[in-house]
Amino acid sequence: LVSRQRNHEDTVVTVRGIKIGGGVPIVVGGPCSVETDDQMEKIGQEMQVQGIQLVRGGAFKPRTSPYDFQGLGEKGLRMLRDTARKYGFATVSEIVNPADVEMAIQYVDMIQVGARNMQNFELLKAVGNTRVPVLLKRGLSATIEELIYAAEYIAARGNEQIVLCERGIRTYEKATRNTLDISAVPILKQETHLPVLVDVTHSTGRKDIMLPVAKAALAVGADGIMVEVHPEPQVALSDAKQQLNFAEFDHFMESLRSSGMIP
Ligand code: PEP
Ligand code: MN
Repeated sequence: LVSRQRNHEDTVVTVRGIKIGGGVPIVVGGPCSVETDDQMEKIGQEMQVQGIQLVRGGAFKPRTSPYDFQGLGEKGLRMLRDTARKYGFATVSEIVNPADVEMAIQYVDMIQVGARNMQNFELLKAVGNTRVPVLLKRGLSATIEELIYAAEYIAARGNEQIVLCERGIRTYEKATRNTLDISAVPILKQETHLPVLVDVTHSTGRKDIMLPVAKAALAVGADGIMVEVHPEPQVALSDAKQQLNFAEFDHFMESLRSSGMIP
């Protein structure tokens, strides 16, 4: 169903009127985790300044350690929604439990299936049973073929509003958090008709190379970029090292705009 052979036209996924795919790249920004009302208010203002239409924020965090901040759950989804309604954004947030999908779609406009859950087949079926757009991230060590089959699980349930996301894979290289597989972008665009985003935060894990990596992703045909932004990254409850502060995000956006890569 997701194969290019079946559909030669690019699928455009529409999230609350925002188009992903079809030629105009978008930037999805927002914090790793929803933390406080104050944080989300600042995020709302900054995203509005930068014209970000689709805002991310994690409420169910799949953390490596069980002792790390696990997210605010439904309360976090509510805070994300309230900020989004105030500022007119659409939202995307990760869900990890199939049983939470029905609850989550009361709050979010797009459901994210994270890297650790790319082959959680019950979750794929649960989001496939909805008609809510899905952002499907590539697994930590998943092949491109496995990512495409994961998308197929969702489409097989009747939901073809799927955006794929390359977010780096695990390799021997330690200079970056994960190795961004840049060639996955044109391959996914060739093999499927789905839009493809590149997550420059979880792939690189390094603020100093996020901008050139984002440019590279757009140059090879990505339909957009995901980047984490936090008002005070140093005190963030997750991914403190790699979230951009507002000045860094302003610079990131200005550079992409002035290079003509995003409108
Ligand atoms: C995220 O986007 O919040 C996240 C946890 O990313 P990934 O699933 O790609 O690690
Ligand atoms: Mn993160």
